[in-house]
Amino acid sequence: MGDTVYLNGAFLPLAQATIPVLDRGFMFGDGVYEVIPVYNGQAFRLDEHIQRLQASLAAVRIRNPLTTVAWRAMLLQLIAENKALQDQSLYLQVTRGVAPRDQAFPPASVAPTVFAMSMTLQTPSTALVQSGVAAITALDIRWDRCNIKAISLLANVLLRQQAVDEAVAETIMLREGWLTEGSSTNVFVVAQDKLLAPPKSQHMLTGVTYDVILELAASHGIAHLVAPVSEAQLRSADEIWITSSTKEILAIISLDGQSVGQGQPGPLFQRMYALYQDFKNQYMRHTR
Ligand code: PMP
Repeated sequence: MGDTVYLNGAFLPLAQATIPVLDRGFMFGDGVYEVIPVYNGQAFRLDEHIQRLQASLAAVRIRNPLTTVAWRAMLLQLIAENKALQDQSLYLQVTRGVAPRDQAFPPASVAPTVFAMSMTLQTPSTALVQSGVAAITALDIRWDRCNIKAISLLANVLLRQQAVDEAVAETIMLREGWLTEGSSTNVFVVAQDKLLAPPKSQHMLTGVTYDVILELAASHGIAHLVAPVSEAQLRSADEIWITSSTKEILAIISLDGQSVGQGQPGPLFQRMYALYQDFKNQYMRHTR
């Protein structure tokens, strides 16, 4: 955990960063957030994360408190302040601010609360990448606006704990018989040598990593199809992958106790994992 955080315009030690209990983030989970990986001091896909933040803010009608230039400058300073950490995971959140407890929006004069911190980026170990991980399925009990990266994550918390309770890595969700995503990841499936991805919708978060994977598939001639994935397709898949900014890409080798494919990370996973690492290194490791 980096010691220097950002709160409402100032950089300060974490221990001194406090907010009033009437903050609407605390009262209602009324806010949005982002998680941005930083490799070797370089923020990965920073513009895309800032764009998604803007989309989340607009969707919940919170005024964007900073310009794109100011977001970039603040985050780059946060990275510099925490440069003792090798690779970083930036967390930032914006809430609707502090106001007497009433669900209705506060007056426009109430300023959003802006908080950002840096943690050590923990990407999966080589052993985990090579072995793959297990997952369970569950009904998607979330709301109809999952494309918004909202801080109100109670359903995700419960779903993620289900995975922890069953000693697996992720809970993969199904809504009315269709794959949506994991509790904190997007999900890809391989069937008949083709990569399948559920289309962007209000039932899943558009992952920045999801977009990278589809771009890499397109630029390297990997057959892929963006189309709804049924529960039957998920259960009979040759490969299942989960993706996120901090997990990168991981292979699911067992789903609800049943082996996926050969029960080990498949050939397309190996290929995409290598492409992803190359892509990342090309952009991230060129400066020192
Ligand atoms: N879906 C959900 C529900 C998530 O929480 C995340 C992680 N933020 C993702 C997908 C993956 O998004 P990204 O690739 O931008 O990290």
